[in-house]
Amino acid sequence: MKEALLAWFHANGRDLPWRHTNDPYEILVSEVMLQQTQVERVVPRWHTWLEKWPTVDALAAASAGDVIVAWQGLGYNRRALNLHRAAQQVAAHGWPGDLTELPGVGPYTAGAVANFAFGRDVLPIDVNVRRIQERTSEQFDGSCTQALFDLGATICLARIPRCGACPLAAECPSRGQRYEPLRKQSKFEGSFRQRRASALRAVAAGEQPVDGDALVSLERDGLVVLSDGVASLPG
Ligand code: SF4
Repeated sequence: MKEALLAWFHANGRDLPWRHTNDPYEILVSEVMLQQTQVERVVPRWHTWLEKWPTVDALAAASAGDVIVAWQGLGYNRRALNLHRAAQQVAAHGWPGDLTELPGVGPYTAGAVANFAFGRDVLPIDVNVRRIQERTSEQFDGSCTQALFDLGATICLARIPRCGACPLAAECPSRGQRYEPLRKQSKFEGSFRQRRASALRAVAAGEQPVDGDALVSLERDGLVVLSDGVASLPG
């Protein structure tokens, strides 16, 4: 499956600007922005941010107020403050071996930065990666990360996967299945706020939600704890 996936990604992968850098600061900015904001909205904001603060030292030297102002429109200002504090910590002490020591950096973001910036064989589990692993029963390694992100965003969709266009279809045990919602969704249903509430309810019930974005968000607010990809309520 891995070979088929990587061949597909080579031909079909999205050309996202943070995929052209291995600078850990630039990667971290992209990952923090992407936690709760769509890719299309993040791209211009990521460029603007890096024009204003091109290095981790530059961001560290900024005022918190300027950082919050620059973040406006992206939502969840706590992310901006944590990114600022993380930059200050890196500027003072360098990048830690354990990236989760940085403010606001949970296991998912740490894994993404470790992989994309430092070349470590880590597979950060987001909602797309988790869904594809569950459907294919395949354990992918870190080299498959970007390909899994794109397959999950464009082919192996949450509700109606496009199995006919999928490079993994020949070996996928879930090929052809549908994942329709139990009832029609209203505008509010399906919102990120509702996804967070749903994920938190599931964790409280002792289940493991598949919505990795919501989990990352809940973890950031201290509402859940993620350990090795397993979510639980804080002690
Ligand atoms: S065959 Fe269908 S269910 Fe399986 S990975 Fe591809 S899109 Fe997803």
